[in-house]
Amino acid sequence: MKPIIFNPSLHQQRHQFVISLVDTYQPKKVADLGCNRCSLLQRLRFNECIEELVGLDINENLLACKKNRLQPLIIHYIEPIKNPLTVSLYHGSVTEKDPALLGFDLISCIELIEHLEKDDLEKFKDTLFGYMAPLRVVISTPNSEFNFLFPNLVGFRHADHKFEWTREEFQNWATDVSSCYNYSVEFSGVGEPPAYAGDVGFCSQIGLFTRNYVESDEELMKKREYKSVYKTVFRVDYPSLKDEKYLRNEVLKKALSEANRLKRQLLQRLFPKDEEEEEEEAAKLTENEQTSQRLSDTFSYLEPESQIEEDKDLEPFLEGNTIHVPIERLIRVPKVKELCGSLDVLKTMISEDNSVGCDGISVLYDVDLENDYDIIGTPYHLSL
Ligand code: SAM
Repeated sequence: MKPIIFNPSLHQQRHQFVISLVDTYQPKKVADLGCNRCSLLQRLRFNECIEELVGLDINENLLACKKNRLQPLIIHYIEPIKNPLTVSLYHGSVTEKDPALLGFDLISCIELIEHLEKDDLEKFKDTLFGYMAPLRVVISTPNSEFNFLFPNLVGFRHADHKFEWTREEFQNWATDVSSCYNYSVEFSGVGEPPAYAGDVGFCSQIGLFTRNYVESDEELMKKREYKSVYKTVFRVDYPSLKDEKYLRNEVLKKALSEANRLKRQLLQRLFPKDEEEEEEEAAKLTENEQTSQRLSDTFSYLEPESQIEEDKDLEPFLEGNTIHVPIERLIRVPKVKELCGSLDVLKTMISEDNSVGCDGISVLYDVDLENDYDIIGTPYHLSL
């Protein structure tokens, strides 16, 4: 018999299953029980609907070792996400009740239950469906009917498994749980069997449970009084546009990169340079300045001019040695409008930034007309 190779791997298919649920149901609070190396959490943090992401595992060393995978990346600082996101890791058991896991929209338990002894499975059931009572639960576990397709397998698929169920065993357990805790359940799976295997079911069987009732505030209040038992191993708040500091930065970055583009366009129109002169000028720029220029061009490209309404009164102009770029022109960049909402807010943000030349109406750039029109006093944001 040919060895079975899943592509994508079974592990990835299970995680993709959860990610598809997140795409479909847009949960705000998501927890992964038995999060192991945090690889599912690592992928889930890119789903913008999620505002709270929690991992729980009984293996504290593993969490301590893998927690850095959940630190924000440089890209999260460059392009902060729209909604707030807090990621936390707890050390504790799925058999223990802790208010930290109340009020969740989705809880995943991927290849977890088969690691629990019979008594713990009972406690887990009550903790998850009775106490945590999330809106949705997804549970995956090996389907033992598939095992004959692994000819070298002796016993269970993993040394720590306490059981592996057939489809009937899993479905009976899941149906009992659902009727006991007032949930509905649908069955599915990942890891298609080969055609020659017949009706053996998926390699990993999956149950998706949906709560059939709305939890009362009174009930939740009572549960919140339970004593905390989990230990927090890690917690981080991601940079988000809901945070004034990041929002301001993002608005200024986008608005001033447009101001910079308009200023360069005006200079080119007033004092056209031929290709040779442009090359000479570029050669004079330091490596940093060249990178800044390229990035600024990229941002301008991301905000295509065609989206910005033309208005002759709002054109940038040169007065004496100063270029004026009307702020009203900058609010026409769709992203700037979306982020700061109104012209007054944009004017305030620009005026309050000491590194930007501004008279309250326009962004100002001093031009050194004696010295080949080099710009002096360029706001530092333009170095982005
Ligand atoms: N969900 C992981 C994934 O998709 O990558 C794989 C889970 S791994 C097979 C099982 C995990 O369950 C292990 O990390 C183990 O430490 C954890 N675990 C076992 N018993 C537990 C318990 N009582 N409470 C919390 N986690 C437990």
